[in-house]
Amino acid sequence: MKLFEYQAKEIFARYGIPVPPGTVITQPGEVEHLALRYPLVLKAQVLVGGRGKAGGIKIARNPQEAREHAEAILGMTIKGEQVRALLAAEAVDIEKEYYLAFTIDRSARRVVAVASEAGGVDIEEVARETPEKIIKVPVDPFLGFQPFQARILGRRLGLTGRTLTEFAQIAYNLYRLLREEDAELAEINPLALTDGHLVAIDAKLILDDNASYRHPDRPADQEMTELERMAKEHDLSYVELDGDIAIIGNGAGLVMATLDMVAHFGGRPANFLDVGGGASTEAMKQALAIATRKPGIRVLFVNIFGGITRCDDIARGIVENRPSVPMVVRLTGTNEEEGRAILEAQGIRAFTDPVEAAQEAVRLGREPVQEVHHGHPR
Ligand code: GDP
Ligand code: MN
Repeated sequence: MKLFEYQAKEIFARYGIPVPPGTVITQPGEVEHLALRYPLVLKAQVLVGGRGKAGGIKIARNPQEAREHAEAILGMTIKGEQVRALLAAEAVDIEKEYYLAFTIDRSARRVVAVASEAGGVDIEEVARETPEKIIKVPVDPFLGFQPFQARILGRRLGLTGRTLTEFAQIAYNLYRLLREEDAELAEINPLALTDGHLVAIDAKLILDDNASYRHPDRPADQEMTELERMAKEHDLSYVELDGDIAIIGNGAGLVMATLDMVAHFGGRPANFLDVGGGASTEAMKQALAIATRKPGIRVLFVNIFGGITRCDDIARGIVENRPSVPMVVRLTGTNEEEGRAILEAQGIRAFTDPVEAAQEAVRLGREPVQEVHHGHPR
């Protein structure tokens, strides 16, 4: 889960990482009541990057300008995301911009510190054009990131004296934050040198959802769609994509293989929902409601391999909550005969071969939209 900059900065401050004073507002009129010193920087709070380039960050020298910028930014949509909140912060004079982040290097199976003296710009661009300007330091999982490593990193960025000490403290605290908050990424870009001090001008934090149970007081995920939230409430794994074929399967591996098959035959998955192992009739009914609710779905493809999950339970779910879009079912495994009988009684023929089923789903998706009537066999 990604956090908004203002949320990330609140956490940064708790870990002793300096951030400029700021306040979040949602109405342009609120700029008049800020206990902040001008000039201000007004920043769109969206979960996508590159706000600066998109015009979502503006400097205001007086309340008049602040109000104008606030009105403009609060009315913007950046990369498809509507701006609902704005961070007003005391602007700083930037002498130099650095980059500092901790993230997980999955291939090295450890946390890695990433730093660069070429901050402020997109780090992917720096990696492409001047890779020598990026310093990476792997962190030993048992020893953790040591203060001396923080100093070495700072020295490699060309820092000395008091700035080096500040950098080392920020780096050490950012590492501590990543570990204690169970983050996948903790990034400061830019970490700005201003008035001889280092300050985190921007803050990016991605938290590991698998560890959310350890942090019960966290805000809800702002990036989840309504259907994703609904699925989560029912303990179903659901992810939205942008095609037109809805996919339900049981088990992550089977669901991934189903997506691949559909894509292989030229179809575009609209979403996928994993009902999990041992799914009940009730879970299947919920799954059908969620997966087919997304607008623009042309076909539903249900791919079930019964193991602990019983085909008859799945079949009952299907007939009790029969979707209003054309449907292709592949059903094999435990209690297959019973499952097929339940479906056939309602005129639904289930495939055995997943490849044939995937081809049929893609074919149906190409046909002109047709009404499917409830209760009548197809
Ligand atoms: P991003 O574009 O979404 O990464 O947003 P940032 O918070 O990183 O801001 C983008 C750029 O705006 C920074 O690299 C700075 O150049 C500029 N900027 C942001 N805040 C300030 C500020 O307080 N003072 C000055 N002078 N520039 C700022
Ligand atoms: Mn930034």
